[in-house]
Amino acid sequence: MRQFSASHFYTIISCLVWPAVFCGGLIGAYFAFQSSSHLMWFNVVYLSVVAVIAFFEWLMPYEETWRKKDGETFNDIAHTLLNKGGVQLAAALGASAPMAVATVALPAFASPLDIWPHAWPLFIQVVLGLVVAEFGLYWAHRLAHEKNSLWRFHALHHSVERLWVINTGRFHVIDSVIKIALSQIPLYVFGAPLPVFLWIGAVTAFIGLLTHCNIDVKTGALDWLFSTPRLHRWHHSKLLDEGNTNYGENLVLWDQVFGSYFNPPRPSSTQIGISGRVARTFWGQLVQPFTTKGYREIMGRKPKQPATFEGQNRSTDAGVTMPVPSGADSIPAE
Ligand SMILES: [Zn+2]
Ligand SMILES: [Zn+2]
Repeated sequence: MRQFSASHFYTIISCLVWPAVFCGGLIGAYFAFQSSSHLMWFNVVYLSVVAVIAFFEWLMPYEETWRKKDGETFNDIAHTLLNKGGVQLAAALGASAPMAVATVALPAFASPLDIWPHAWPLFIQVVLGLVVAEFGLYWAHRLAHEKNSLWRFHALHHSVERLWVINTGRFHVIDSVIKIALSQIPLYVFGAPLPVFLWIGAVTAFIGLLTHCNIDVKTGALDWLFSTPRLHRWHHSKLLDEGNTNYGENLVLWDQVFGSYFNPPRPSSTQIGISGRVARTFWGQLVQPFTTKGYREIMGRKPKQPATFEGQNRSTDAGVTMPVPSGADSIPAE
């Protein structure tokens, strides 16, 4: 294996994996969207891409130690299914909405602006849609790091200590709902058509799988345009200055515009995670952000001590290296 990793062939494969998997996924999505049951076939494509990425994670891992089990695989899959199921339900409703709107309630459901450029080629519309959706995704993600009231949900995603394809969908359902709302509402307001939503969903699905993959990919100039594994590993770093960067989900355009783009010339971090603690079970992880005790655990604070003369002068906060630039020192006292 060591010989393979030092070969020219390995370097070529490293450069090709990201664009090949991304384009392969999009081609699969194209055929899925042509079929009568496009959601079902899209899922087949999605799972095929997961299998391809898993194969390359075995063949050429970025970090060998991330191949070890962390006991979170079930939780990762359960959160993915909960989020993905919700999104697909919304998509299924969305697919039938145009007919309902056309026949029953067109005035009530019509876009308030309807300024979308429907006459443009679909490819250009999808690029435009990605830029618009990404603005919402960027701010949803950035605020999730900068506001403790939102970090309590987003911390679940950062609590893993290894990155691999299976923890792509590990988001608290509230975190996902906020992201979907902020990214999709502007598109509804502008009057974007259903195919634009479908293609944005496809791009987000495949880039999401790739950003978390544990494959030794070389992405070069792609790092300037897309959220690549290299950029996203910095985002998962335990160090505050490295972790509060690269918020883009698909594109890094808004990171560059708002000054949070981070891509130093060295291998990206493998020291990932948070200093707080999330619950061990799936249900515990869902409930934890809603309780005072759970919130303190997520923030890396010690449990509240009974007030004593000695205890009143003692800080109850543990040293927090993650999550947020405003930091644990700005957490309002509960
Ligand atoms: Zn994040
Ligand atoms: Zn991530």
